[in-house]
Amino acid sequence: MSKFNINQFICRSDNYGVIISDKNTGLTASIDAPDAEMIDQELKKNDLKLTHIFITHKHLDHIEGIDYLKDKYGCIVIGPEKEKEEIPLLDITVIDEEYIDFSGSPIKIIETPGHTLGHIIYHFEQDNLLFAGDTLFLMGCGRVFEGTHEQMYKSLEKIKKLPPNTTIYCGHEYSIANAKFVASILPDNSNIKKRLDEIKSLRDQNKQTLPTLLDDELITNPFLMSDNSVLKRKLDMNNAKEEEIFSELRTRKDNF
Ligand SMILES: [Zn+2]
Repeated sequence: MSKFNINQFICRSDNYGVIISDKNTGLTASIDAPDAEMIDQELKKNDLKLTHIFITHKHLDHIEGIDYLKDKYGCIVIGPEKEKEEIPLLDITVIDEEYIDFSGSPIKIIETPGHTLGHIIYHFEQDNLLFAGDTLFLMGCGRVFEGTHEQMYKSLEKIKKLPPNTTIYCGHEYSIANAKFVASILPDNSNIKKRLDEIKSLRDQNKQTLPTLLDDELITNPFLMSDNSVLKRKLDMNNAKEEEIFSELRTRKDNF
């Protein structure tokens, strides 16, 4: 059992807010700062004081709440060295493969360029938790705004190598759109069909579909399945390299 309590909620329109806390030490972190008011409200509801903010990347819908939360709680703001010019009030900047400590848990920083060039994700190694920001989504991945498709492919390969029992929290609730796209590419895949049904049912009840498990992503997320022979056949790319499969998928999803 993890020592952490995790509270996840949807804010703005489809952003996920995540608050992780250790009740023994009182340390409490917000993953990104999409919505100061909602984060503050959730903290109050659970009688928590914010001590840290872990920023994944510079987009406004991930950093807009920093000002307010830092002013109110005096929390430590940690974020990517490569985006320090664009993220306000950073106290600590981090780079690839660096470790930071949170409440006695080692957190490995992994740089995942693609969605933005400086994007980082936070891997709580002992606790099998990954905070993936806008790099990976349930049955999907982030749009490649700044990097190249090849960079994003390599970033996702890093996630693929983590332990399969890793629980993954993501920046957005995009599951329905992602699952529909995946089902259109691999309509005969029973794992994908089943997952689409589960997601539809959850969203019909206005429930969250995240977090997800890496193990489930490995068999239903085509962006992690570039070596899958059925997928290659469906794309009519039997002899293509894995990064070419990824690139084709990303382009098709952009136009879906
Ligand atoms: Zn983003």
